[in-house]
Amino acid sequence: MININSGGEAQHTFDAIVIGSGISGGWAAKEMCEKGLKTLVLERGRNVTHLRDYPTATKNPWDFPHRGHLPEAIKNENPIAEKCYAFSEATTHFFVKDKEHPYVQEKPFDWIRGYQVGGKSLLWARQTQRWSKFDFEGPARDGFATAWPISYNDIAPWYSHVELFAGIAGNKDGLETLPDGEFLPPWEMNVVEKQIQKRIMDAYHDRHVVIGRCAHLTKPQPVHLQQGRGQCQARSLCERGCPFGGYFSSNSSTLPWAAKTGNLTLRPDAVVHSIIYDEQKGKATGVRVIDAHTKSVTEYYARIIFVNAATLNSNLILLNSKSGRFPNGLGNDNDLLGRYIAFHNYRGSLTATIDGYLDTYYYGRRPAAVMMPNFRNVYKQETDFLRGYMTFYSATRSSWGHAVDGDQIGANYKENISEPGNWNVYMMMQGETIPKAENKVSLSKDRTDEWGIPLLSVSVDYDDNDVKSLNDFLQQGAEMLNKAGCKNIVPNDSKQAPGLDIHEVGGVRMGTDPKNSLLNKWNQLHACPNVFVTDGACMTSTGTQNPSLTFMALTARAANYAADELRKNNI
Ligand SMILES: Cc1cc2nc3c(=O)[nH]c(=O)nc-3n(C[C@H](O)[C@H](O)[C@H](O)COP(=O)(O)OP(=O)(O)OC[C@H]3O[C@@H](n4cnc5c(N)ncnc54)[C@H](O)[C@@H]3O)c2cc1C
Repeated sequence: MININSGGEAQHTFDAIVIGSGISGGWAAKEMCEKGLKTLVLERGRNVTHLRDYPTATKNPWDFPHRGHLPEAIKNENPIAEKCYAFSEATTHFFVKDKEHPYVQEKPFDWIRGYQVGGKSLLWARQTQRWSKFDFEGPARDGFATAWPISYNDIAPWYSHVELFAGIAGNKDGLETLPDGEFLPPWEMNVVEKQIQKRIMDAYHDRHVVIGRCAHLTKPQPVHLQQGRGQCQARSLCERGCPFGGYFSSNSSTLPWAAKTGNLTLRPDAVVHSIIYDEQKGKATGVRVIDAHTKSVTEYYARIIFVNAATLNSNLILLNSKSGRFPNGLGNDNDLLGRYIAFHNYRGSLTATIDGYLDTYYYGRRPAAVMMPNFRNVYKQETDFLRGYMTFYSATRSSWGHAVDGDQIGANYKENISEPGNWNVYMMMQGETIPKAENKVSLSKDRTDEWGIPLLSVSVDYDDNDVKSLNDFLQQGAEMLNKAGCKNIVPNDSKQAPGLDIHEVGGVRMGTDPKNSLLNKWNQLHACPNVFVTDGACMTSTGTQNPSLTFMALTARAANYAADELRKNNI
């Protein structure tokens, strides 16, 4: 028998509850607090306050016991997290440790998580591109997933809304396949990248090469200064938390903004167990929470609930929210909850060299690569695989001191490291994967975590379509680099498991038909409309763009709708 502390119902009652304080939860909180809703944000991890809780943000390499590298013992204890490029001596405190939060891998899946206030918004690589109309229309046109219930025009104003506040650097390129946004000044390509750009665009009329778009303040506007944020210094130490607020995170931006309204209550260390469904009222009335440390159980109540625990955890919470009406999880009348998980195919990359340009260098550590929007199957189906891939590349000179041949000590060595090396080129894919019913998550029947919650069981894999898309990228990439004048072109298939892309989506997909989707066009559960799911779990397909800007826009759109409906007493 569990002892539930409802702590005086009034004190535990809010207008809205948001589960999760990461990228999407931060936006839900900001929008609803601004609309005057008393909003409770429940976060399973510890509190992380902007600036105060970034212990490594201003450390030098020599300040770390292992100069930033991870001791073998930590790597061995974290075989999954360790695969993420951002997991280092400077950032381990923002990553979930493998042992503390186990899950079941029915098939290999590297689940990378950040459980703290701010979630993965502290760790992300900040690449932010809008979807195009082709991405929203793709599933219906090609018949590979259920139709999106919204179009590009529905979300375009919300892209603008979040871009202006978050601060996105980019160039207005006028491309149909990658719509422009409300941009701060773009980062610049270096001389070699420009040369490759020119040669590719001369050789292929369907391929566009542009500078990457990212959530960095290249020229802070008044709204950013009001957030207490300043100009990005191109330090490339972002994953430690930025002392300048130079990149967008929930901690530096949306959460403090929400707090300033006086309407925010933030509860860290609050593990949401499930959503409470009241059969008489026919709606959700609140959430059941377990204290991360004491394990005591508390209930909180609200008229609307936003589920923003990040894709797979949002699936877990809904699957675990069982009632007489919903024995298989909240809203799960069609047994599709947890299904149609998709991700990005990151397996393909190429390395190359390019001769010359030894009299040129570049300034700082730019937080964006060069990119090419998808050029495959855009206007019609034209290859033997569905959909396509975004291509990224960058050109850098080999590091001073790292890649020198010969002596590793003495005068020659000093001489060598006083000059940067030759130019290297790196190209990679971000491929769309097709959502499939068999790519799914479910609850373990016999294993629970420390809080008594069933472990998530993940069964997600590549398919033949992904391999064909990968092979096409490797072939096209090599051809483009060759035409751009590169040499020593080496293709690579990392064969990495799904998950390491950290772009997992789906499981609670949006759609027009309640028979084959879970959410309507406003992100409300068809069968329980006062519950909104607006993180990656809601995604019907993946597109080829980095996903988080779309999560933000969908969240802001749904939160404003929810607040308006609440005011009209429609929820
Ligand atoms: C290294 C790295 C690089 C990335 N690069 C990019 C990029 O360049 N561009 C891009 O678009 N995306 C990128 N991503 C992905 C991006 O971080 C995520 O898409 C984004 O953070 C998702 O937002 P979210 O709100 O859904 O989840 P999160 O930001 O992960 O927040 C979810 C929050 O919910 C909390 N939570 C989970 N379960 C519960 C529970 N039961 N009760 C209470 N709270 C709970 C978690 O602790 C967490 O704080 C990257 C991620 C990483 C780690």
